[in-house]
Amino acid sequence: MCGWVWCFWLINESLYFLSFFKAPAGIISSIESIFKKFFWGGGEDNRKLAWINWESICSPKEEGGLGVRRVGAFNLSLLGKWCWRMLVEKESLWYRVLKTQYGEEGGRLCECGRQSSMWWKTICKVREGVGEGVGNWFEENICRVVGDGRDTYFWYDTWLGDVPLRLKYPRLFDLTMDKECKVADMGRMGWTVDGQVWEWRRRLFAWENECVRECCVLLNNFVLQANVTDKWRWLLDPVNGYSVKALYRYITSTGHISDRSLVDDVWHKLIPSKVSVLVWRLLRNRLPTKDNLVHRGVLLSTNAACVGGCVDSESATHLFLHCNVFGSLWSLLRHSS
Ligand SMILES: [Zn+2]
Repeated sequence: MCGWVWCFWLINESLYFLSFFKAPAGIISSIESIFKKFFWGGGEDNRKLAWINWESICSPKEEGGLGVRRVGAFNLSLLGKWCWRMLVEKESLWYRVLKTQYGEEGGRLCECGRQSSMWWKTICKVREGVGEGVGNWFEENICRVVGDGRDTYFWYDTWLGDVPLRLKYPRLFDLTMDKECKVADMGRMGWTVDGQVWEWRRRLFAWENECVRECCVLLNNFVLQANVTDKWRWLLDPVNGYSVKALYRYITSTGHISDRSLVDDVWHKLIPSKVSVLVWRLLRNRLPTKDNLVHRGVLLSTNAACVGGCVDSESATHLFLHCNVFGSLWSLLRHSS
């Protein structure tokens, strides 16, 4: 398990790179393959048996894994921070530089097609949630908390319901004259079905009018609050805002939570981590006991007898509980404590 030190070193060394750039798939799989080799005690040239699949090793501890970071997902979580900062640091110099370079639409920096740098294209892709097969993870986890509505885009921001109104009513968005209007301006003009607030490029069809009516029902339940500033909320951590840890967990979680007390016992802070890993493997019956080695074709079945010299075959249960030689260690331990 000396591979541990290696794994952490590699992650830390690449942290700076991963927080700026999206690593190509080839690089990610190379890094992971180095992890795997060293994790099982092998080296560059010799491969050891992989006792547990990499997926399980990378699952969080509370889901029964070892919590080793998945490089791709971790990379994405680090890059997501840029997308969050683009929303909350609009006064910063770096944002203003990007705004001059690429322009802004509906409060979002534009992607700007072919003229943009590779770095910028990647960040835009991350903002669209591309990469880990969990849908649009960025947009789904942000929402605008509207106070007076002066700084919230009516069509672009997610402020009423779960999706921006431009996605909920794409036809209306297409037909509206002022796509960049703010919630406060719309509210001031009064959002009734025939109100002045709606300016369309042409007369609406009956079904389009129906959409306006539906939208007005939603709007009429909404109250603006004077002198309260609009804010962004990161739904995975509404109090502290964006965190790499929360997003990483969101992307990688399988939702299969293990028995909490068992997890706490195995990963107790007073137990050295190499012992915890041993217990973790024991609970999954993934230790190199002779029965497991026979099962994997490393030993012949004729050589499966217990290492303690008894006639029984060597399995984890035998070795740790029933063996005449090693099983008695438990009673010695009980007497000495
Ligand atoms: Zn034995």
